[in-house]
Amino acid sequence: MNQINRRKFIKLLGAAGVASTTSGLILPGGAIAGSKARVVVVGGGFGGATCACYLRRYDSSLDVTLIEPNNQFITCPFSNTVLAGIKSLDFITHNYDGLHKNYGVKIIHDTVISIDATAKNLKLKNGKTLKYDKLVVSPGISFNWDEIEGASEENSKIMPHAWKAGTQTTLLRKQLEAMKDGGKVIIAAPRKPFRAPPAPYERASLIAYYLKKTKPSSKILFVDSSGDSEELAMFRKGWEKLYKGMIEWVDGSEQGEIISADAKTLSLTGRTVGNLKGDIVNLIPPQRAGDIARVAGLTDKSGWCPVSQQNFASRLQKDIHVIGDACIADPMQKTGHSANTQGKICAAAIVTELSGGTMPDVTYNVSIYSLLNPKYALSSAGVYRLKNGKLKQVAGGLSAKKASRKTRLKEARFASGWYKGITMDTFGKT
Ligand SMILES: Cc1cc2nc3c(=O)[nH]c(=O)nc-3n(C[C@H](O)[C@H](O)[C@H](O)COP(=O)(O)OP(=O)(O)OC[C@H]3O[C@@H](n4cnc5c(N)ncnc54)[C@H](O)[C@@H]3O)c2cc1C
Repeated sequence: MNQINRRKFIKLLGAAGVASTTSGLILPGGAIAGSKARVVVVGGGFGGATCACYLRRYDSSLDVTLIEPNNQFITCPFSNTVLAGIKSLDFITHNYDGLHKNYGVKIIHDTVISIDATAKNLKLKNGKTLKYDKLVVSPGISFNWDEIEGASEENSKIMPHAWKAGTQTTLLRKQLEAMKDGGKVIIAAPRKPFRAPPAPYERASLIAYYLKKTKPSSKILFVDSSGDSEELAMFRKGWEKLYKGMIEWVDGSEQGEIISADAKTLSLTGRTVGNLKGDIVNLIPPQRAGDIARVAGLTDKSGWCPVSQQNFASRLQKDIHVIGDACIADPMQKTGHSANTQGKICAAAIVTELSGGTMPDVTYNVSIYSLLNPKYALSSAGVYRLKNGKLKQVAGGLSAKKASRKTRLKEARFASGWYKGITMDTFGKT
């Protein structure tokens, strides 16, 4: 048993970027750890890997098992740089060695096919059953294919979404390489909520960066079901400077959403935007929580998982926590940094609960960087606190509207630093 005291625990929360704002006692007697409980984490992405790592960092006597089908994790953050030929797929690929070797997380490479919240066990694809005292579910997203006639997993091999990184990223990159100069790329982004709201803007920017260098007569038609925003206005200003006349933004909000897709003719139809034909169609479908969340009865009619925003405990199933894109944590956006922060807060909440203590009030800090080219980036940051059980943004905001090239370059450097830091932290690298 490895007990840690309250002071060390608060220090760890601080080091994790999860600042404690309470001076009250966490546990009777100051003890935090030592419950030897079995915690199982489903999904080894930004939320799940972080949570598994921090459960062991906060209490090394916990038996923590992470279940993830893939041997390696390919991040969506920086995947747009792979599309643009700036970085390789290797650069965004990470293994789970650090979590196991440095923090003692047990790792099972398999898929969870069902969860029995009453019996407190789950079934794996390999037929085995695993018991848990606490379960954390971080399965990311699934796609609502049925909302767009003609869209399907199968047709995404022709009209890639590249909204889960890996083979889809490579496919879209190859299509961009093969396209003739003068071709048209359609990017269709869904309505909110969806994974990484600024990422379609970054994608349009970095595809434009690649096309400007290699096929300068080509065009991008960006059908955006999120509609206009202050953040988009900053990107559009950047596009004017960097890619004049190359990106046409079309408001696909309200009635304009894409309602059908034809993989044979590479065309999309929206109610108000009409029929659009491209040489490449990057169709990003509407989204919901990863399928296992629905199978386990963790989703409500929105398709996402209602949780306590204090500890990410499911509001629908006992002893199960849901973090990352799958949970409803607004006003936090669905991003890797949010999932990472939630993973740490969830781990702290589980450790304190198992030890009979009280979770301190904490601040939730997140930031997201978007590259318009390798030397020009914009960012947004959010600092959140709980008020009456609901998260409220208390600080943060977008990059300065007016800034020199030097400032935008600085932000691009911060983006690289952010990526290095978050992947080390999430995957337990030292
Ligand atoms: C193009 C793009 C760019 C982005 N850029 C950024 C960025 O710059 N910064 C940022 O913060 N965020 C960014 N994001 C968002 C970020 O990728 C997601 O918000 C983040 O991955 C969410 O973490 P998660 O843990 O919820 O899901 P994921 O990271 O997707 O992890 C889910 C994991 O669960 C596993 N899983 C699913 N079902 C099961 C099951 N039944 N059994 C076992 N395992 C299962 C999956 O294999 C997967 O590994 C970007 C996203 C995109 C698409």
